[in-house]
Amino acid sequence: MTAMDVQWTLVCSRCERTYPGLVERHRCECGRPLDVRLPPSAMTPDAVDRRLTSRQPLDRSGVWRFREWVLPLDEASVVTRLEGHTNLYDVPKLAAHVGLDRLRLKHEGENPTASFKDRGMTVAVSVARRLGKTRVACASTGNTSASMASYAATAGMQAYVFIPEGKVAYGKLSQAMAFGAKTLQIEGDFDRAMSLVQSVSASEGIYLVNSVNPFRIEGQKAIGFEILQDLQWQVPDWIVLPGGNLGNNWAIAKGLMELRAAGHIDRLPRIAVIQAEGASPLYAAYQRGGDLQPMAAETVATAIRIGNPVSFHRALAGLAATDGVVEKVTDQEIVDAKAVVDGAGLGAEPASCATVAGLKKLVTAGTVPPDASVVGVLTGHVLKDPGLVVDYHLGRLEGFNHTLANPPVKVEATEAAVLAAIR
Ligand SMILES: *Cc1c(COP(=O)(O)O)cnc(C)c1O
Ligand SMILES: [Zn+2]
Repeated sequence: MTAMDVQWTLVCSRCERTYPGLVERHRCECGRPLDVRLPPSAMTPDAVDRRLTSRQPLDRSGVWRFREWVLPLDEASVVTRLEGHTNLYDVPKLAAHVGLDRLRLKHEGENPTASFKDRGMTVAVSVARRLGKTRVACASTGNTSASMASYAATAGMQAYVFIPEGKVAYGKLSQAMAFGAKTLQIEGDFDRAMSLVQSVSASEGIYLVNSVNPFRIEGQKAIGFEILQDLQWQVPDWIVLPGGNLGNNWAIAKGLMELRAAGHIDRLPRIAVIQAEGASPLYAAYQRGGDLQPMAAETVATAIRIGNPVSFHRALAGLAATDGVVEKVTDQEIVDAKAVVDGAGLGAEPASCATVAGLKKLVTAGTVPPDASVVGVLTGHVLKDPGLVVDYHLGRLEGFNHTLANPPVKVEATEAAVLAAIR
């Protein structure tokens, strides 16, 4: 396959300017992120369903199973950890908690590195291999770096994680270090780390897999595809998920818009994006009907602690196309929802639980009726942020109520004392 054979193009999300499919740029000359425009495909939902019983790695991956709808890449380039095929849980207790007759939660924490980032990363790192790259980089302190490090190691590439000074959550970095990424602690803030990773990658020929990478969006579309496949291609009324950089809600909207254009579904679900109050520029713009006003972000949900989201404008386009809504929740509401999600036996990281907190608000407000068919997305695993779990249950989260805390109890080492404690 030569560059000439690549069947997709990159198109600007604002000015419609197009670029060749493998050009190494993530943004248009006008500054907006680029999207992949795919060639028409004959792939049908029935044919995708037949792949469910296949033993081939590409069919077993919950991303590459949909490859004609994701990215028609040559198979030799694909770097996969058989990501996706996460479970869709029917959760009556949580349905009652939010006020719905029925609720299903798609647990993306069941991906190989325990967040949905793997769905995008398998595509981005595969494109890196297609381009002949041996090194990849991103600026991130979170799930993106964990995922990149794993896929780079799988592909035999060197990964570089640029992290800013100060706000380093070592719990989240442990995977990146474990998977062999070289971690550069930049003596500067996040913007500085981001501008350095961009300039150094360009001059060194290192492939950038940061949030603007259009191929990550392509892989994340598969969350929506898989939800439909889980539901036997019945479109739910709502899909609810947290929003930080806002790539994921755009990805799901883009994928489902493409399926509708191809005639595989006849309507779109409404998409509800939930933001943390301390990091809610989309919510603010949605309320005002205005443009992006970046804010200094602060929330316990570190995966969505983003004040200047890179996919802001695309997110708005996705909301318009799906008749979507935006809700915001306080950190207290997030930790309360997390105690309920964790206590139901599922567990998820704080950002994921914004989904349940926001859904509760939307049902209470009457936006989502009790009999609606709703799929919520849990974006990351409970073990991503064990520090917050321990602090919550020990009553040590400063400024929070710990209503549902489940602390350990100290017991004297006698049978009588143990019996007294468990009765
Ligand atoms: C990245 C991430 C998000 C936010 O997704 P965006 O595409 O940035 O909006 C939410 N939850 C988890 C666990 C994440 O890793
Ligand atoms: Zn443009």
